[in-house]
Amino acid sequence: MRGRERITLVWLKRDLRLHDHGPLVEASRKCADGERAIAVYVKETDYWATDKASEEQWEFVAECLLHLSGDLEKIGCRLLITEASSAEITLKALFAHYEVTELLCHQETGNHWTFERDKKVFRLCLEHGIKVREFLQNAVIRGKNRPPEKAVHQQFWRGWLSQKQSENPTFWRDPVTVPPRCAEPKLITSSSSLRQRGGEKLALELMEGFFSRRCMLHGGYRIEMGSPLHGDETCSRLSPHFSWGSLSTRHAAHTAMRRGASLVRGSIIHRNSFHRRLRWRDHFLQKFESLSWMEFRCINPASETLRGWNEKWYERWSLGMTGYPFIDACMRSLNATNWLNFRARAMLVSFASYALNLDWRRFAPHLARTFLDYEPGIHYSQLQMQSGTTFGSIPRIYNPIKQSVEKDPDGEFIRRWVPELRNLSKELIHLPSDISRHGYPAAVISPPSLWRVMRSNGPKSALPRHAPKTGRSPASIPRSQRRKTNLDQLDLFLPG
Ligand SMILES: Cc1cc2nc3c(=O)[nH]c(=O)nc-3n(C[C@H](O)[C@H](O)[C@H](O)COP(=O)(O)OP(=O)(O)OC[C@H]3O[C@@H](n4cnc5c(N)ncnc54)[C@H](O)[C@@H]3O)c2cc1C
Repeated sequence: MRGRERITLVWLKRDLRLHDHGPLVEASRKCADGERAIAVYVKETDYWATDKASEEQWEFVAECLLHLSGDLEKIGCRLLITEASSAEITLKALFAHYEVTELLCHQETGNHWTFERDKKVFRLCLEHGIKVREFLQNAVIRGKNRPPEKAVHQQFWRGWLSQKQSENPTFWRDPVTVPPRCAEPKLITSSSSLRQRGGEKLALELMEGFFSRRCMLHGGYRIEMGSPLHGDETCSRLSPHFSWGSLSTRHAAHTAMRRGASLVRGSIIHRNSFHRRLRWRDHFLQKFESLSWMEFRCINPASETLRGWNEKWYERWSLGMTGYPFIDACMRSLNATNWLNFRARAMLVSFASYALNLDWRRFAPHLARTFLDYEPGIHYSQLQMQSGTTFGSIPRIYNPIKQSVEKDPDGEFIRRWVPELRNLSKELIHLPSDISRHGYPAAVISPPSLWRVMRSNGPKSALPRHAPKTGRSPASIPRSQRRKTNLDQLDLFLPG
């Protein structure tokens, strides 16, 4: 009886690209040496049924898979795309069919579900005597139950960035025997949605457009990134591609540094600002790698019972029906496009936490499944920072009316997303009302008491960060504390 065919297996997860892809390159190298290999992606229905996943995210992934399978085909690799409740079902079938010599994949800093899944897969490999090789795709040190010191992590980050990117795979040899029959997911995607589209080619074009043109539009990236009117154009918009791996962050960081010299004067600050954010990304991923319990527990244990729940208020917040025009415009824009800039995300969380006193754990899933770029490491750190449940940092209480006047002075953004108010003047459009008007609801919290309520729902001793004129102005904050409010400052939410 003939033995099973020997193969190397590449397991794709959130790394749906050809460039800078260690596992694909290694498999390709082995194929050039006469071996055979399979690349497999499993649509895990149990994951996609969780409250943190959405149809829009899956469609983005499906688009990435369609692009990738076309690209892999060109080097002779037929990408196996299957559907099962969890990856280990498909992998088990492949292990039974082939003699798998090695499993190659990227290290993932995912949420609880994917972490548990990884453990099951690695146990399965151990049982079958299959060697597993995990490649880094972010500067994250694995297996620490305390985050490394900031300086240590920064050094690691710099070292990782200084390494060359993997060359694209060039050669492949599929196994001679046909893989076992597995269920296949539908890769049909809707064209009507306003969300971004997936795929490596689009990611590379988007990045090129950002560096060559968009980062300098209007006031430029650094200035406009918080603008509801221009942020969607001047921000890089690369986050979903980073999250699902159709673009490697190292590739983006290298490109930013390379392009720096050729950018026109003044744009270097935009480039640097972008580059810094890539570092923050890995900083938060590293924190989450070490403190993954922050998906479920407050970083500051004293905040565990800080907030409560009100189902009706949550519904109004998540539908963009709070009666606060700028809040509702941001939420409706998010629900329609699956993207918001940083400032607007922070303001929505601040409103849910400080105005509505909602527990971040119960509204987090709405944001996780609505953001096309759901990245657990950034998501839970930011949620907790904006909800005031971390250690030490000054609470980020955003006054929605002040933000509205400052960021959308003519009410253009509000008119776009809250058409009920389209006929109001720019003086009136920012103001919530105690009575419903034009089919638009009365404010969920009476406007005159909003600021008092928001302050009273914060940790008692701390100063609000975006106080209105009546509150304590930033100028009166002692210098030592003022430094902490710098937007570019990384909050270290752990003591010491
Ligand atoms: C409550 C809240 C939740 C968030 N959840 C996510 C999330 O799930 N996924 C996600 O990618 N970002 C998240 N962010 C961070 C940020 O808002 C988005 O990364 C950014 O808006 C994405 O748009 P962009 O790609 O155009 O970003 P750019 O401004 O062009 O930034 C470039 C890249 O840097 C990284 N980055 C930017 N800002 C930050 C930051 N503050 N911390 C860490 N990394 C950053 C992202 O990878 C981003 O793609 C969250 C922010 C808040 C306040």
